[in-house]
Amino acid sequence: MLFFLFTIPDWSAEIKKDLPKPDYEQVQKTIRYLAEEIGPRPAGSEHATQVIQYISDKIKQLGYNYTYQDYKLPDNRNCRTIHAYYAGTSQHEIILAAHIDTVPECPGANDDGSGVAVLLELARIVRGHHVPVGIHFIFLGAEEMISGYDEGRFYSSAQYIEYQKNLGLDFLNGVIILDKVGVGEIFQVLQMDSTKNNLTDKLVVVANQMKLPLERRVVKRWQPSMPFEDAGLATVWLEWGPDPNLHSSKDTINKISRKKIESVLTLMEQFIFSVP
Ligand SMILES: [Zn+2]
Repeated sequence: MLFFLFTIPDWSAEIKKDLPKPDYEQVQKTIRYLAEEIGPRPAGSEHATQVIQYISDKIKQLGYNYTYQDYKLPDNRNCRTIHAYYAGTSQHEIILAAHIDTVPECPGANDDGSGVAVLLELARIVRGHHVPVGIHFIFLGAEEMISGYDEGRFYSSAQYIEYQKNLGLDFLNGVIILDKVGVGEIFQVLQMDSTKNNLTDKLVVVANQMKLPLERRVVKRWQPSMPFEDAGLATVWLEWGPDPNLHSSKDTINKISRKKIESVLTLMEQFIFSVP
């Protein structure tokens, strides 16, 4: 994979104090449920169905209405994505996404239990507060490779884009994908070279002001079809990495770093509350 390091643009945001406090114990509880109680949860499996129920219940407890997108996988199994929306004070909107599914035999504590747990916690944090942009919280059902169908990936984001197109993409400012946010030495925000966006700039500036070592990288596409990018949406991938246990049975909760999860939580919270 080719990496190009970019300089940080001159863009300033004011760091907001007095934001709600992220609850790491809650995040850990979610990861424990996903990785230990449930474990591997390939798209369309019984385990994935259990997780979808769990997340739906949590989202409902937080006071959200949610909708499902139901679709068939290439192997004909049924799959589901959960969507919940929190209205902002402007007409602008962003998508925050994480994926529920894992590859087979992988407990998926980091990939992507960490992203799912952070997303749920962000959904909890914003409730009852004014935020500048509306937020689509998306728990994607099928982002990993489906075995036997190695050509494609990202079935659920492709489905979601179709659904969102009917709502209109006009006010959508971009997509932040939280995938693998609890393990690794490098904190990075990835953007594909064909995608024009300033979300990355803003994330890096906010991170800088918070003294978080976030690196901005522009990468080549790693799959033939990348639905959010292909729809012309500003799309960024926020992650810690590399994860030596990626897609293995060793992707377990004891590898997850509290400090790394908290860096993502506080960065995302600051971003949500301060950036139009
Ligand atoms: Zn992933």
